[in-house]
Amino acid sequence: MDPPQQPAATRPGTGQRVLSSAYGGEARDASLLFTLYYIACFGNETTPGTLERGIGQDGGAQDARFHGGSQLISLRMADQLDGRVVLNAPVRRIDQDSTGVLVHSDAGVWSGKRVVVAIPPQLAVKIAWNPGLPVEHETLFQRLPMGTLMKVEAVYPRPFWRDAGLSGMAINLAGPVRSMFDNTPPGDEAPGVLMGFIGGHAWRRYRDPATRRAAALKNFATTVGSRALTPVEYFEQDWTRQPWTLGGPTSVAAPGVVSDFGAAIRDPFDRVHWAGTETSTYWNGYMDGAVRSGERAALEVRQRL
Ligand SMILES: Cc1cc2nc3c(=O)[nH]c(=O)nc-3n(C[C@H](O)[C@H](O)[C@H](O)COP(=O)(O)OP(=O)(O)OC[C@H]3O[C@@H](n4cnc5c(N)ncnc54)[C@H](O)[C@@H]3O)c2cc1C
Repeated sequence: MDPPQQPAATRPGTGQRVLSSAYGGEARDASLLFTLYYIACFGNETTPGTLERGIGQDGGAQDARFHGGSQLISLRMADQLDGRVVLNAPVRRIDQDSTGVLVHSDAGVWSGKRVVVAIPPQLAVKIAWNPGLPVEHETLFQRLPMGTLMKVEAVYPRPFWRDAGLSGMAINLAGPVRSMFDNTPPGDEAPGVLMGFIGGHAWRRYRDPATRRAAALKNFATTVGSRALTPVEYFEQDWTRQPWTLGGPTSVAAPGVVSDFGAAIRDPFDRVHWAGTETSTYWNGYMDGAVRSGERAALEVRQRL
């Protein structure tokens, strides 16, 4: 049985359904300024950001996907770094003084002239800082929680919905899956895969796994037909349960946060430079923004060295 519905007056509308996957929250979780900024970030140096680019396919956020998964970016970059990437090394403490920086992790201590910190803001405040973080950074990072978001995937022998000319893509006005996509891998023998986002209020409401599964499959069936109710496999990934991420897809700013604290987001803290998608001025919250932020932080460090 579905959990009880919210009263109609507080039930999310279509726009909020989009936001629930776009930042794992409801309109009420973010300020209007942050939401407009987020939409403006769907642009680049030559093209203004629009909501259409944020949710659209051609030239938009849903334009392309990685064959093999997006972790390929990290894996291929790591290959080029000849074993210099250290895994399983959570950073616990960062000391700095006028001579350099010491980074203490579970796998050892590293020293350098400068350091780039590229982790979600709420994880940055968990590091023990010596000297302590400037109050501008501390207060800002504490106020940038990750959204609440999970992904569900249902696997079928083949993408049967394509036979009927259906894309498998939908924005749903009821049920836990707010937006869904055909996530079938390439190739003739591939199984069919439907993927759905459960974010924001729906994530908070559907906490019972069996109820959530049944309701998610019902969302899929409403879009592509009743065969969706009987997948051969069903997976869930709840990003809020990942201790080194804490949610997704990005950090969200409530009213007053951008206007009162936001200015410090890219200011270096002496020898410490900030990267990560939250610091990007384009595609903030997306992989594109993460890469842009890395390039900007690398330039900052180079200028100071
Ligand atoms: C369900 C979901 C779907 C998404 N879909 C898309 C999409 O379709 N397109 C898109 O562009 N983006 C998407 N995103 C967003 C995208 O994943 C992020 O924008 C991107 O990963 C941000 O990159 P980042 O490098 O800033 O941070 P992260 O990817 O979070 O990387 C930070 C890294 O730092 C590590 N770390 C954290 N704390 C410490 C510590 N103390 N010491 C050492 N290491 C630490 C973490 O383990 C992690 O590896 C999605 C996100 C989610 C959750």
